Amino acid sequence: MGRKKQNKLNDIYHKISHYLVKKYDIICMENLDIKEMFKNKDISSSLQKIGLYKLVNMIKYKCKWYGKKLVQISRWFPSSKNCSKCGYYYKNLKDNQKEWICPSCKTKHDRDVNTAKKYS
Ligand SMILES: [Zn+2]
Repeated sequence: MGRKKQNKLNDIYHKISHYLVKKYDIICMENLDIKEMFKNKDISSSLQKIGLYKLVNMIKYKCKWYGKKLVQISRWFPSSKNCSKCGYYYKNLKDNQKEWICPSCKTKHDRDVNTAKKYS
């Protein structure tokens, strides 16, 4: 990717993140839905090229700047892959897997309950 195109993407990211942070007091991010939030073809294809990581990061630090709250939730609850007890990230957790045992502290988790614990 050329430098010019890269700059243009950065610009788009800044615009999106600025817009979101200004507009909402609490941003609940469903990572996978950001693409759908922006029906604009240019933006969605740009997002696909670089991935959402960069944009999410911008939103994060802008939230800090403006004192806004950011809650990151994905449709597939990657947060439920984190042990609510010791924080272990269980990356092999399957999307259709309801229960898992933390390899680190041996706690048995129900993924929905585990997620709820983190956000309550
Ligand atoms: Zn654990």
